[in-house]
Amino acid sequence: MMPNLPDLFGAPPEYPPRSIWQRACSGCGACCAAPDIAALGKPLGVACTHLGAGCRCQIYTERPQVCRSYQPDWVCGEVSALPTLAARVERFLEIYGLDSSGES
Ligand code: SF4
Ligand code: SF4
Repeated sequence: MMPNLPDLFGAPPEYPPRSIWQRACSGCGACCAAPDIAALGKPLGVACTHLGAGCRCQIYTERPQVCRSYQPDWVCGEVSALPTLAARVERFLEIYGLDSSGES
């Protein structure tokens, strides 16, 4: 019998239903640009220096463990359809209540 695992793509009830349609990483680049990543010395809201054209990781096969361990979830449905990386980063930070200006 399989244990009941949490559905990482199930959005919280206050989020609109479009979140449930995305169930995999679309390669939108938001998680490589929005969060701070200590292992890479990457500040909040600044794109990783390894993020290349088309939001592709330029060191994919050598990327650090923190990147390998990152799990796509319902936030991907909130950010990845937005038209620009800047818009995706803004929404990502908004969801987590983070402010890249350092004033939060
Ligand atoms: S935010 Fe989600 S969809 Fe976008 S690159 Fe990261 S894991 Fe993939
Ligand atoms: S190393 Fe690659 S996967 Fe990790 S944050 Fe940078 S661009 Fe993204």
